[in-house]
Order: sequence, then structure tokens, then C-alpha cells
Amino acid sequence: LDASGSPLTDGSIAMKDGRRIELWANVVGVGDAKAAVKAGAFGIGLLRTEMMFLDRQEAPGEIEQMRELKAIFDVFAGKPIVVRTLDAGGDKPVPYMNMPEEANPFLGVRGLRLSLAEPAIFQTQLRAILRAAAGHDVRIMLPMVTQVDELHAARRALDEAHAALETAKIDHRWPIDLGIMVEVPATALTAKQFAHAADFFSIGTNDLTQYTLAAERGNPRLGAFADATHPAVLSLIRDIVEAAGETNIPVSVCGEAAGDADAALLLVACGVTKLSMGAASLPRVAKRLLGTEINPGVQRSTKRA
Ligand code: PEP
Ligand code: MG
Repeated sequence: LDASGSPLTDGSIAMKDGRRIELWANVVGVGDAKAAVKAGAFGIGLLRTEMMFLDRQEAPGEIEQMRELKAIFDVFAGKPIVVRTLDAGGDKPVPYMNMPEEANPFLGVRGLRLSLAEPAIFQTQLRAILRAAAGHDVRIMLPMVTQVDELHAARRALDEAHAALETAKIDHRWPIDLGIMVEVPATALTAKQFAHAADFFSIGTNDLTQYTLAAERGNPRLGAFADATHPAVLSLIRDIVEAAGETNIPVSVCGEAAGDADAALLLVACGVTKLSMGAASLPRVAKRLLGTEINPGVQRSTKRA
């Protein structure tokens, strides 16, 4: 055990049955990035960028975003980092973006839908990420992707950001992997198509659970429905892992379930080998995985013929 009490040495755990599971961290700022490094995280599996956009009257500029991102990347220098583009909308309104009131914000213009509707703000963020990523192992992830066409549109926007930086001779990371959150049931059900167009998947069990069980996340009267281990959700997760396996792209889980030791075991049984969670959960999940083996039959026995 290291000083923080975490059995993580190289960011991964060898389970008794030989599976190697990587434990990554969910991060929002420099403070929790430092805590995650101390706890031994493999990398940043989800860097949420909403904080840079909320609680202000105008959009943050390219340089400001670049500096904030770079400060976090520097903490994880040499390790892989997954940056998620803005996931506003729904429960996270932003005053300077065109966000008319919606009757059902969680089913509205949120995540990538909003970024594609605000191309200037999206370009600025993509450019800031590419610039901050120079010299770092950074990948970009899109939230709330529902249709393959949205991923294609985002890739065009990313190409445009790269072309502009290239023309201006501004240092930036290129090429760069572009992956998606799988957090909408339609995306999970068509994961095979996405697996040909995305460089990686990360499963957002918070939203995947709310959309699968038709139960708003955070609604205190629906707490019993906030269960990522519901058989319907696990079934989707198995299908996502299988689809990723067909084109050999990485797949992780970055929803709250990954940081819950009991749920994490079920995710591993579904074939997941990368879990991303808040730094505080790393030691607990690591310890649970360390002492456990999963009957190899469990992983595939329920697979459809
Ligand atoms: C998720 O939906 O599981 C997720 C990780 O994203 P967020 O909680 O930011 O919506
Ligand atoms: Mg989500």
C-alpha cells in the first residue's frame, strides 16, 4: 500500500483471476487532479469542463481555457487524459448560450447537441483543448451523443480547429483521438455503428441509467431507480463492450457506478477493464478488486446466441 492507503501502483489492479483492471480518475480541477495522482490513478478518464463555463456572464476565451486545462494536464504529465467537451443543458444552464426554456431539459438541447448549435463556442473550446494538449497524452470525448451524424459533425469541427491552428502556426496536439460517451440507450443499442466512427467509448452510467429506466437522476423520490446495476442497464453495457471489442477500441465506465465497489465488480463481470471514478473512491474499489476473482463463465454465459 502506498501512503494514501491505495493498493494502486501502476494505476491498475491484477485480479485473482488474471484480469488487469485500470482505475482512472474523474476530475474537474487542479485540486482533485492532485488528489487523483496521489491515489495512484492510471490517468484522467473524465475531465469535466462545465466548471469553466458556469456561473459567468460571457463565454471563457481560448487563452483562458487553455491555461486552465494546461494546469490540470501538467498534474497528469505523461499519463493519458480524456477531456470531455462542454456538457451543458439539462440541469446545467449557461446564460450566454441560446438555451430557451424546455419542458424536459434532460431530453433537450444538451451536451454535444448544444455544442453543435453554438459553433463559435465549440470552436473556441476545441482550439483551447488542442493547444493545451501539446506535449500531453490527451484525447477528446463528446457527451450526449445520440446519432452517428453528430459524431461526424464534431469531427469536422475538430478538423476545422486543427486547420485554423495549423494555418496560424500555433502549436497544438495533432492527431488526437475523438471518442464518445455512451449514455443514451439509442447509442448503446447501435454501438456497433459508433464503434466504426469513434476512437473510444466511455459509458456514462448516470445518464444511461436515467434514460433507460425513465427516471430523472437526482429526483429524490426516484432514488430507488438510480441503479446502474439494473439488469436492463447491465445488458446494454455488455452490448457496448462487445461492440467495442469488434473494432478493438477502448471502452471504459466513468459514471458513479465505477466508484461503487459492488457495482464495479458487476461492470468488470460485463467485460469492462477501465473504470474512472472520483479520487476518493480509488482505494476502496482497488481493494475490492484485488481480493476478488470472477467466474469466467459469468462474463459470457448470458450472451445472446
Ligand atoms: C454520466 O452520465 O454517467 C456521466 C459520467 O456524465 P455526467 O454525470 O457528467 O452527466
Ligand atoms: Mg452524463
